[in-house]
Amino acid sequence: MIQIKNATQIQAMKKAGRITGEALLTAREHVRPGVSTKYLDDVIRSYIERAGAKPSFLGYAGFPGSACISINDEVIHGIPSAKRILEEGDIVKIDVGAFIDGFHGDSARTIPVGRVSPEAERLIAAAEESFRRAVEQFKEGNRIGDIGAAVEGCVSQAGYHVVRKYIGHGIGHDLHESPDVPNFGTPGRGPRICCGMTLAIEPMINVGTHLVRELDDGWTVVTEDGSLSAHYENTVALTPDGVINLTQVD
Ligand code: MG
Ligand code: MG
Repeated sequence: MIQIKNATQIQAMKKAGRITGEALLTAREHVRPGVSTKYLDDVIRSYIERAGAKPSFLGYAGFPGSACISINDEVIHGIPSAKRILEEGDIVKIDVGAFIDGFHGDSARTIPVGRVSPEAERLIAAAEESFRRAVEQFKEGNRIGDIGAAVEGCVSQAGYHVVRKYIGHGIGHDLHESPDVPNFGTPGRGPRICCGMTLAIEPMINVGTHLVRELDDGWTVVTEDGSLSAHYENTVALTPDGVINLTQVD
């Protein structure tokens, strides 16, 4: 069932969203060649805990990190490690969640490490643009399929591929709530959008194929063909005054 939030609940979600966004922004300031993904994870954990919140992902289904940190062809769910060192030209996806006062925030960015290829830059920009197109469709009377169709249309126009196996989601008391929010769909199909909905909209897009597979570590998802992948996510709420982006602080 879709959990519709009232104004008080959305107010509480602003706090979780702000801490999530700030933790992510703080980590981004530490992205540079030579830094390990474990170091970035430590930065995120300490930021969230100092803010009085809990990292939503730590221990989630046994996940060992506070953030998911995925490099290049890794799409999502990368496990932070002291052995994974960022190199010039990499793109790194940092996915963060914070839980406070009964609510979660969830946000992800793809960050270039030093100078990256024009293709990488274009891919990162396409992921962000597809998110913006999705948010335009997040309005009363539309359906969830309108969001997915907007992402899919934007991404395929850029010549890239939308991941189909992993999708966005409702969010609130639980990190993952109804409805599912696929990054593909048919306009006019799916659950009807209404005020009080809170969603994590999160395009995951690949250069070469929509196909992905999970590594033997049981977490890391990579592109099937080894091509680059980008991810862009915010937690958004639909209110009578329009969409509020709860995790955007940059
Ligand atoms: Mg996320
Ligand atoms: Mg999410």
